[in-house]
Amino acid sequence: MRKYSPKSQTVSKNRSRNLNKDQRYGLWPGSDFGHKKLRAPPLMNLVFANRKLSFYDTSSTPKTKEDNAKLTQRRHYSMRPHREQEQRNAEDVLFDMFASEETGLISMGKFLAGLKTTGIRRNDPRVRELMENLKKVHKLNNYETGSSAETQHLNRETFKAVVAPNIVLIAKAFRQQFVIPDFTSFVKDIEDIYNRCKTNTLGKLADYIPQLARYNPDSWGLSICTIDGQRFSIGDVDVPFTLQSCSKPLTYAIALEKLGPKVVHSYVGQEPSGRNFNELVLDQNKKPHNPMINAGAILTCSLMNALVKPDMTSAEIFDYTMSWFKRLSGGEYIGFNNAVFLSEREAADRNYALGFYMRENKCFPKRTNLKEVMDFYFQCCSMETNCEAMSVIAASLANGGICPTTEEKVFRPEVIRDVLSIMHSCGTYDYSGQFAFKVGLPAKSGVSGGMMLVIPNVMGIFAWSPPLDHLGNTVRGLQFCEELVSMFNFHRYDNLKHLSNKKDPRKHRYETKGLSIVNLLFSAASGDVTALRRHRLSGMDITLADYDGRTALHLAASEGHLECVKFLLEQCHVPHNPKDRWGNLPVDEAENFGHSHVVEFLRSWAEKADLSNEECNPEAVTSKTQADEEICSTSDLETSPTTSPIPTPVESGSRAGSGRSSPVPSEAGSTASVGSSIDDKTKPGL
Ligand code: GLU
Repeated sequence: MRKYSPKSQTVSKNRSRNLNKDQRYGLWPGSDFGHKKLRAPPLMNLVFANRKLSFYDTSSTPKTKEDNAKLTQRRHYSMRPHREQEQRNAEDVLFDMFASEETGLISMGKFLAGLKTTGIRRNDPRVRELMENLKKVHKLNNYETGSSAETQHLNRETFKAVVAPNIVLIAKAFRQQFVIPDFTSFVKDIEDIYNRCKTNTLGKLADYIPQLARYNPDSWGLSICTIDGQRFSIGDVDVPFTLQSCSKPLTYAIALEKLGPKVVHSYVGQEPSGRNFNELVLDQNKKPHNPMINAGAILTCSLMNALVKPDMTSAEIFDYTMSWFKRLSGGEYIGFNNAVFLSEREAADRNYALGFYMRENKCFPKRTNLKEVMDFYFQCCSMETNCEAMSVIAASLANGGICPTTEEKVFRPEVIRDVLSIMHSCGTYDYSGQFAFKVGLPAKSGVSGGMMLVIPNVMGIFAWSPPLDHLGNTVRGLQFCEELVSMFNFHRYDNLKHLSNKKDPRKHRYETKGLSIVNLLFSAASGDVTALRRHRLSGMDITLADYDGRTALHLAASEGHLECVKFLLEQCHVPHNPKDRWGNLPVDEAENFGHSHVVEFLRSWAEKADLSNEECNPEAVTSKTQADEEICSTSDLETSPTTSPIPTPVESGSRAGSGRSSPVPSEAGSTASVGSSIDDKTKPGL
């Protein structure tokens, strides 16, 4: 990582001046966001460094009628409830990130490409309204020549109206608040692993039925879906294949959901069998060992028939089961391959033998019709899908049973916990023990070459490649899983704090100073006190400034967010009077944009500060004492809006006496921040 210093800051700044706006934002001509050409992956890196000239131009007070109208509108908004105001600001901030300085319009092509870098696709159900609104606007504009609905250019008001229904998700994406904040970098590493696996030509196709033997051994697809619905796919991800054994955890989940673990496990065990997946063997209680091997899965199918839906016909049970799979996949592709079904039924001597053996041992519930059960089992194996859909299913399992793309609660979290536990110990045939040891994650593989991998609370991954090893696991899929956990600390027993040789893509890159500034300033500009509190608790330097010397306090003041201003001064003890590179103080900003309540507060604060000679303890900002945390988590909730926000010396004393840090503002600031601290802005070129 490049060391951040005043010097490097100057260099970056000068360089950025010579770039046009698109280049500064990483939107290079011809750049394709989803791919490697992208220069500056998360488009936010320099956003706040350069955009202020147009939108937060503090060198002049508003002069035109339009400006005045804008001010009135801002005042009006500032009186709205907090949530609504926050939302409005998120929309404005987004517009300012992407709008062209020359035209004052936003290119929706660039905006959507930016959204894609965060992992959100245009066909995500959670941005459906946005996409529909774009079409409506395009139509209203009479399909303006030269641009499609998705590449049209919009003005501020239209943009805000278009994104409004989905702003919560969109703001979360651009604030990098998803489980994988830097999705672009993560995806790049995934691509590297994918490409390494591609060259592996070991393994043989399953040939017990002709349909599997006909697969192309070069087929190799990989799809990822995080619990926040961030998507990435590479290779043969749309090619259909049958679920085979990957259906087993899903039918087991339905049985658990409907019958509960007590009933289900009175029929089937939880132990790895230590034997072949289709071996004619039961455990010492005369039950199949677990629901992931053939005997256990056939038994689960019998529970569906006899206990879950005893009144349904075979056809109805098939539809019923398919509808569960579909809901788990967020409505993505789940079909049925009749040729595979017929072949499975033909080549099923061993499975029939298992069925009869279990019937002989009275394993099934009463009223079981074995023929129907066997057919149902073959039907589940013959359901067809693709990597894309299966990654969403895996993500639903990672997300406690809630589909990340539709947000539908399909299964209860307890059900998913049980399913994942069994997948962890029994999901990869006779490799299960080694898989649990090396990969340390729940997974399920199938003879068609699928491997469903679940990283609980993070993401689901589906790898598909037909060549299998001698134990029946996809060779490339297995290699992918093993390489994944050697690169990232996803193994269940990786220590997240102390293991240093693996990457943690969940980690917010607060180490990257540029990104910290973006996040901090974004939160201040949007009036998001909760986010500011989080930044502070994470140990971030709240006095950080962008290349124009603008601090969180400048932005909170210029947007009229009194709560943020109070929090920054009272809780974070930031200096009240940092100057940006035009010499503007936060109070000037508040004045320029007509936020009289903020002006009043800042002026009183400054007066108190001038009277007080007390030095602020530098520790107060950067180190988190228990008292600090208490202050952070409670104080701005406790503060009554009617009480004066300005601490009197007496109040200060009594608070200090109660162990809390001093709220008295300091001229010098309370932290010696590196590089971008406010002091540095007096240096030439900053
Ligand atoms: N239909 C296959 C069987 O029951 C499924 C095998 C598997 O994927 O493990 O033999």
